[in-house]
Amino acid sequence: MFCDFSLLHLFHKWVLYTDYLYFLSFIVMVEKTIIIGGGIAGLSCALKLQEANENFLLITDNLGGRIKYSAKERINFGAYFVMRSYKNAGKLVSKGKLINPLDVCFHNSDVEKFSLLHFHTLKRLPELIRFYFAMREFSVHYERFKQRCLTLSQKEAMGLDPYIKALYTQPANDFIKEKRFNKVADDYISKFSYACTGVGPEQINSLDFLNVSMGILQPIYNLTFDEKIISDRFGAQLVTDTINTIEKGEGKFILNGASGTKYQARNIVVATPADITKNLLKKDHIRGACKIYVYHVEAALKKAYRRFSLNLFPPSSEIMLTAKQGNGSYLIYTSEKEVDLLGVCENYKLITMVPWEKAMFVFGGAFLEQVYGEGLYIAGDHNGLGLEPAAISGIFTANRIMNNQ
Ligand SMILES: Cc1cc2nc3c(=O)[nH]c(=O)nc-3n(C[C@H](O)[C@H](O)[C@H](O)COP(=O)(O)OP(=O)(O)OC[C@H]3O[C@@H](n4cnc5c(N)ncnc54)[C@H](O)[C@@H]3O)c2cc1C
Repeated sequence: MFCDFSLLHLFHKWVLYTDYLYFLSFIVMVEKTIIIGGGIAGLSCALKLQEANENFLLITDNLGGRIKYSAKERINFGAYFVMRSYKNAGKLVSKGKLINPLDVCFHNSDVEKFSLLHFHTLKRLPELIRFYFAMREFSVHYERFKQRCLTLSQKEAMGLDPYIKALYTQPANDFIKEKRFNKVADDYISKFSYACTGVGPEQINSLDFLNVSMGILQPIYNLTFDEKIISDRFGAQLVTDTINTIEKGEGKFILNGASGTKYQARNIVVATPADITKNLLKKDHIRGACKIYVYHVEAALKKAYRRFSLNLFPPSSEIMLTAKQGNGSYLIYTSEKEVDLLGVCENYKLITMVPWEKAMFVFGGAFLEQVYGEGLYIAGDHNGLGLEPAAISGIFTANRIMNNQ
């Protein structure tokens, strides 16, 4: 009788396996452009190149990156919402349910809280008007800046707009003081910005703060991300692998994948998170990252938090927000890992916790260039937070590659 575990059979299998690894280490895939990283930045670059019939390969160890949408549960464990103005990111993610601003509550404590319809909002009217005009001025500059960033590097675009350039190095707190909306910032805006970034206005720059705060003045929607549609769209141009090292050769780059495959390309777009980009390219300072922990729980919230779908908290609280999900469960975002959720829940059962140890690169004034000499490009949210700036940076790299040929 044939025995599966005969010594001869095992030896044969071993030879086959080692031959296979040996063979793999010699595979070289040659492309004109290789994009490393399949988050919104890398995907936006790939989409733009595909639309122009360009030759490229997108290599990523995961699709979506900090977009982590569970189609089964219809829950986002990473990026949560898109704004109406997200024209570029909107090509890869879809708008879900509108987040109703009247269903949001801003808390100072278990007892002190107010929704937008509260008398408190009326009391703040003069400051709210000042905030509105400050945002109107910002949005004129910012929309023009984003448009320019599709074809100019962020540095070039900032060079054309000193207003935006100054915001990159100005702490958000200084902007708030200068425009005199401190109380409105404390009561509403900083809570919203904290819920989006995990940090208070004293820790982020004005550009990030105002970009995020646009979500208070325009409709925002839950997002959905369909991995199948995206992977079908790119087909064989999408490869699952992790790039360990990048070497520069004569007029080309050689990338070593964890699978053993080598890739070669004239252009590379490094669209990985800033810390990985820094390691792969062994250069430059990057901004420091904040942490966000997303707890998914079945819970009975305390009475103060039960009425509203979204509860927002001040930066002094480790709990950033609670968000009720379609199936009745809750997401609770925290800025620390070990947080007592009984601060907001009467009781809860933990379903899962998704840690983002490098959630967003928000601290400090470091600035990552997008073009590093011939053929080497960087895309991502390194200099500007969120899905739309990351998508725009990906489109910029695709445009630069096409213009440079
Ligand atoms: C909890 C949380 C909530 C957020 N909420 C929002 C929100 O509501 N709205 C909003 O606009 N933004 C939000 N953001 C920010 C937003 O998610 C990011 O700004 C954006 O997704 C960054 O996209 P990216 O493509 O630059 O990077 P990433 O999404 O991080 O993509 C990088 C990709 O590179 C891949 N990769 C890494 N290393 C390698 C390697 N060596 N080889 C191959 N591939 C590699 C990764 O797998 C990943 O796919 C949130 C972020 C977090 C963490």
